[in-house]
Amino acid sequence: MHRAELIATCDAAGQEISGGWVAIRNGRVAAVGAAGEPVPNAAEVIDASGCLVTPGLVNTHHHLFQNLTRAFAPAVNRTLFGWLQRLYPVWAGIDTEASYLSTRVGLVELALGGVTTTSDHLYIAPRGAGDLWTAQVEAARAVGVRLHATRGSMTLSTADDGLAPPELVQDDEEVLADCERLVRLHHDPDPHAMVQMALAPCAPFNVRPELMRASAELAERLDVRLHTHLAEDPDDDAYCRARFGRSPVEHFEDLGWAGPRSWVAHCVHPSGPEVGRLGAAGVGVAHCPSSNMILGGGGICPVLDLRMAGSPVGLGCDGSSSNDAASLWLEARTALLLGRQRGGPTGMSARDVLDLATRGGAACLGRAGVVGELSPGSAGDLVVWDQRGPLFAGAHSDPVEAWLRCGPSPARHTVVAGRVLVREGRSTDPGLPDALAGHARVARRLQAMS
Ligand code: ZN
Repeated sequence: MHRAELIATCDAAGQEISGGWVAIRNGRVAAVGAAGEPVPNAAEVIDASGCLVTPGLVNTHHHLFQNLTRAFAPAVNRTLFGWLQRLYPVWAGIDTEASYLSTRVGLVELALGGVTTTSDHLYIAPRGAGDLWTAQVEAARAVGVRLHATRGSMTLSTADDGLAPPELVQDDEEVLADCERLVRLHHDPDPHAMVQMALAPCAPFNVRPELMRASAELAERLDVRLHTHLAEDPDDDAYCRARFGRSPVEHFEDLGWAGPRSWVAHCVHPSGPEVGRLGAAGVGVAHCPSSNMILGGGGICPVLDLRMAGSPVGLGCDGSSSNDAASLWLEARTALLLGRQRGGPTGMSARDVLDLATRGGAACLGRAGVVGELSPGSAGDLVVWDQRGPLFAGAHSDPVEAWLRCGPSPARHTVVAGRVLVREGRSTDPGLPDALAGHARVARRLQAMS
């Protein structure tokens, strides 16, 4: 049970309550009350006086394995394709231990930034590396963050005019069989699930069109979601036009992906008509502002245009090798700044961004109404943001605007299904010191291979 100074965007109507409380029972929100309403008895009460309470944030795009090559000196200052080509041989050393440790540490980092549900796009499958996705699921169960894992894939190597070395790609049949195996093993269709799976061929420039089409058909049959990168960068656009004779969005549409089952990362370079078609089809978009700016591909995702056209839009940290900080709060602030840079002083408000980071992300993952809001019956996932002390001194009129205009703001408390994962700004994971030591050892091993 949490008493708060202000609870924001409690429900689909974006309701805000001053001085209210949230009660969580059996992992779900049991009740939300206003100031003065009788507070239920609770086993634990967290005092959130002077704080903002929001629904848990939803991260819609990430590559947790990349935290093993964070700020990797030989790959910085390159284009998207140059950066990938430099890192692929390093990532070829990833095994189940590396997958477990990168996920374990990465999920703690996300929780410290207020994330309670995250997607992850793991598309590296070195030969003989073992089941990297099951290792991720084990790490997620240990940490307690909701994981929307995706079975990523690459099937085009340098031998086929792609970018990845041959030892990192698989054939279509191998990928599809493993997708089905992982969905049957780990996917829990309950909207309150701690683990769900989706299918995620990496991008048009490293996956055969036949696999994209077959993945869409398999996702339909298994009733899981579809994810990929789309229209991220000028290189990506030029590759699609040269190889397939059409833009990335046209390619995506021709392969049967343009529907509400799909959410895509980036979408920086769609044309105006393409924005309209993606919106009409209900395709979700993960806006990853820091990664887009670090890779310097030019352009800004047309967030509000996509939303107006009908696309759910969420926020994503993207991988920790192209946005080396994995704080969704930081992405939210960056989305605010970039939205205003693009659209002027009315182009984006903190409330718009809070909606992207919560309900928008939940809609991208097919979990609208369950995660990303605080209403009776929704997931018991919330974040307490401290607004006391020097960083917020003088901010008394609007805690939601202050949340993103002031800061930096790590989460004071992060709660998932009623379990406190971050308390007073620190992870409650007792295994974290050992995980960090193992992570350092594995990261050094990988980076020494370069
Ligand atoms: Zn990505």
